Amino acid sequence: MPPADESAKCAVIGGAGPAGLTAALELLRRSDIKPIVFEFDSQVGGISKTVNYRGNRMDLGGHRFFSKSDWVMRWWQEILPVAQGQTDPAAPLRINYQQRTHELIPSELAPSSSDAVMLVRQRLSRIFYRRRYFDYPLKLSASTLQNMGLVETLRIGLSYSQAQINQRSPEISLEDFFVNRFGERLYRTFFKDYTEKVWGVPCREISAEWGAQRIKGLSVTKAITHAVASRFRSSADTSQKQTETSLIERFLYPKLGPGQMWEEVARKITAHGGEIRLRHRVIGIERRDRQITAVVVKDETSGTMYTVGCGNFISTMPVRDLTAMLKPSDDTVIRIADRLPYRDFMTAGLLLKRMISADPRAAAHGMPPDNWIYIQEPDVKIGRLQVFNNWSPALVANEATIWLGLEYFCREGDDLWSMNDSAFLDFAARELEKIGMIDRRDVLDGTVVRVPKAYPAYFGEYSEFEKVRAYLDGFLNLYPVGRNGMHRYNNQDHSMLAANAAVNSILNSGAGKTDIWDINAEDDYHEEIEAVA
Ligand SMILES: Cc1cc2nc3c(=O)[nH]c(=O)nc-3n(C[C@H](O)[C@H](O)[C@H](O)COP(=O)(O)OP(=O)(O)OC[C@H]3O[C@@H](n4cnc5c(N)ncnc54)[C@H](O)[C@@H]3O)c2cc1C
Repeated sequence: MPPADESAKCAVIGGAGPAGLTAALELLRRSDIKPIVFEFDSQVGGISKTVNYRGNRMDLGGHRFFSKSDWVMRWWQEILPVAQGQTDPAAPLRINYQQRTHELIPSELAPSSSDAVMLVRQRLSRIFYRRRYFDYPLKLSASTLQNMGLVETLRIGLSYSQAQINQRSPEISLEDFFVNRFGERLYRTFFKDYTEKVWGVPCREISAEWGAQRIKGLSVTKAITHAVASRFRSSADTSQKQTETSLIERFLYPKLGPGQMWEEVARKITAHGGEIRLRHRVIGIERRDRQITAVVVKDETSGTMYTVGCGNFISTMPVRDLTAMLKPSDDTVIRIADRLPYRDFMTAGLLLKRMISADPRAAAHGMPPDNWIYIQEPDVKIGRLQVFNNWSPALVANEATIWLGLEYFCREGDDLWSMNDSAFLDFAARELEKIGMIDRRDVLDGTVVRVPKAYPAYFGEYSEFEKVRAYLDGFLNLYPVGRNGMHRYNNQDHSMLAANAAVNSILNSGAGKTDIWDINAEDDYHEEIEAVA
């Protein structure tokens, strides 16, 4: 019989993703408050989990571990140290991402034979368009010109010049934003289809402001200047070479995928006396005035429902669900929360004998060298292709095979989402065949993973989000944190920092509670889904 109530000296946490687990471990490390984490999935990690399919591991999206926060970088390395041989022990470990560099001296390195380690990976991702590979970020290089052809390049140049002379004003939509910066032709070639695939909304219905905030793109003027200057630059110009080297992105990556980090954290939580109850869904909240007193939970395995009393409630559940459970009396708050937009995501894991490639950088069995590839082809729905072997060879059971993730942006319940798994796998394999990357007869196996609410979106009702936030902030011992928990486009590190800020506030009797919302309010690095700029 499940307990009707737990000690008041406990914090209930809804969700065992990066935010929920960070909060639980920090509470255990820094206080005598016992965390009880409820997670409706059968494994921990949230969107950052690793799915193990017959020994082949899938990362849902490709999770780079990087952060400008030293606290986060150290935290990760305390859980999973960097493997020997991945970095020079005498030199700082240098992580580069989106033109920033972060240096940290690892406190220890682990034997490279161990599985409980982080690798240091170098990013390669390209754009696949017109059945050819283009550099990412897009460069005005000889290969780009060759791939585009002289006539198309001239057209792009002309359309760019026109856009500079005739700027769209006022700049209202994301389409205006792109055209003003890149010209109509480049926008249609490289930005429109992909952005619309990702968000499922025409660029003219997305606000320009959103583009300014989210798309730190290529400046065409800068790119042209750079391309021309590089023609005259001496090959012995080492400072330039160094700059270019420092811009190569390097990030940490758990040997067995991102979920390995969160599985290790979960082990530590239970070893220190915390509890994680998997397949348990938070379905209700009890409150007295501005105080949360208990949480109602359903055990998804037995169907039993029970109530757990709590001193504090940390929620990483979608704002929509949390708000509904609080039953606000204000209809405006209900409406906004209920209509907060999300974008969902599906991945087909395909195991292959070989791929087809004319790319000179491809391996003997045709596997491209990229971590992931943006698919810009307008005649297919696939948005991105992950090559898991290149994230970590340990993700693949048999290293002679190629383990791919075919990523689709969709809406829960739409035609793609509702396809049965075997039809979806067939559809995905046909798409790769159509763009010339594989022969379907080389597919050995496959699986499908659906990720609801993968992207909290910033359109529609989101413009009024402050009203919901103010309502949630009114509860003294309620801490909404994390990606869907705050309806914010968080990376793992932001979710962890928000969770840590919540723990700080709990340990300071609620002081600094609203600081949580300052995390990731200005940041300009996120997983790149907006546009390939
Ligand atoms: C395609 C893609 C690529 C990404 N790439 C990167 C990257 O390169 N680097 C990076 O750092 N981040 C990346 N991210 C972001 C990263 O996945 C998230 O920031 C991180 O997982 C958020 O952690 P969280 O704990 O806030 O939320 P989640 O991971 O969403 O975890 C929330 C948990 O709460 C559970 N839950 C929800 N409702 C309930 C309920 N009622 N009861 C019980 N449990 C509940 C869910 O099942 C889930 O496990 C990427 C995300 C996507 C979609």
